Amino acid sequence: MKVVVTGGAGFVGANLCRELLSRRDYEVVVLDNLSTGKLSNLDGLDVEFRKGSVLDPVAVAATCAGAESIVHLAAVPAVLRSIENPRRSHETNVTGTMTVLEAARESGAHVIVASSSSVYGRNPTLPKTPDLVCLPSSPYAVSKLAAESYALAYQSSFGLECCVFRFFNIFGPLQAPNHAYAAVIPSFVFNALHGLPLTIYGDGEQSRDFTFIGSVVEILAEAVASRMSGIRPVNLAFGTRTTVNEIVAVLSDLLGRPLDVRYRPPRPGDVRHSQAEPGVLTKLFPRVHPVPLAHGLVRTISWL
Ligand code: NAD
Repeated sequence: MKVVVTGGAGFVGANLCRELLSRRDYEVVVLDNLSTGKLSNLDGLDVEFRKGSVLDPVAVAATCAGAESIVHLAAVPAVLRSIENPRRSHETNVTGTMTVLEAARESGAHVIVASSSSVYGRNPTLPKTPDLVCLPSSPYAVSKLAAESYALAYQSSFGLECCVFRFFNIFGPLQAPNHAYAAVIPSFVFNALHGLPLTIYGDGEQSRDFTFIGSVVEILAEAVASRMSGIRPVNLAFGTRTTVNEIVAVLSDLLGRPLDVRYRPPRPGDVRHSQAEPGVLTKLFPRVHPVPLAHGLVRTISWL
C-alpha cells in the first residue's frame, strides 16, 4: 500500500514516516522541497524521497499516482512567517493544498489534511469546539482555514475521501529548535540546555494545548489505515491547557535549576488562549492516550 507524505521531511512528517513503517509494510513516498524540513530527519528510513514542491502539479500528480492515501502536511508553517510574507504562506498552504486535492481526485487516493487550531483565532470561547465561528487573526490561520475548506468542499463536490485534523501545539523529537520561527517548547529546551536565556513574548500567561508528537502520529497512522473520512474538522489535542510560564516551571523542575527568562512584547497574530474540546478525537481513537507534558519534555530533552 502506497502512502504519500507531503512535507515528510519536516517534524510531523518524519515522525509519521517512522510510525507508518513501524506498523506495516507500507511503501512510503515523501514529497518535500526541504524549505524547512531536513533530509537527515529521514535517515535510516526505508522511504522514497522526492524533492519537489506541492505547487508543481506535474510532480504532485506523478508522486500521488497509485497512492492509497496522501497525508498532506507540506506548508509554510508558523504565524510569524505569514506576517512577514503572507503571499508565500497563501500560495503554499492554499494553492499547494488544492494541487494535492486535484492529484487525489485524479488518482482516487484518500487524503488527510493538516489544519491548525489557529483557525479559531480571536474567538475567545474555550474549549474550542469544531463548530465555533472561526475568526483567523493571521494570514497563516486564513490559509489553513481555506485549505481545510477546500478539502471538505472536494469531498462534497467530487466525493473525495478525506479528513481534516486541526493540530494544536505539537512538540517532541525532530522539531527544529534554534531558528527565528521555532516553536516555544523546542526553543525553550534548546536554550535551557545551552545556558541561553528563554524569551517569552507577552506576560507568559498565554496558554496552549500541547500534544506530544507520539500521540499525533499514532492518530494519523490509524486514520491512514482506516481510510478515515469525515465532513467536519477534528481537533487533534486532548483538552489540556498550559501557560508558557508553566512550561518554564516544569522545565526548570526537570533540569533541577532556575532558568534565565526574558520577557518581550507580544507578537502580532498570536492568540491568547487555546484549548481543544477533544470529545470527537477520543471517541474516534479510544486507543490513543495523551502523553503527560513532563514525560514529553523528558523525551524532547533526551533528543536534543
Ligand atoms: P515543518 O516545517 O517541520 O514541516 C513542513 C514541511 O513542509 C517541511 O519539511 C517543508 O520543507 C515542507 N514544505 C514546505 N513548503 C513545501 C512545498 N511547497 N512543497 C513541498 N514541501 C514543502 O512543520 P510541521 O510542524 O511538521 O508541520 C506539519 C503540518 O502541520 C503543517 O501543515 C503545519 O501547518 C501543521 N501544523 C503544525 C503544528 C505544530 O505544532 N507543529 C500545529 C498546527 C498545524
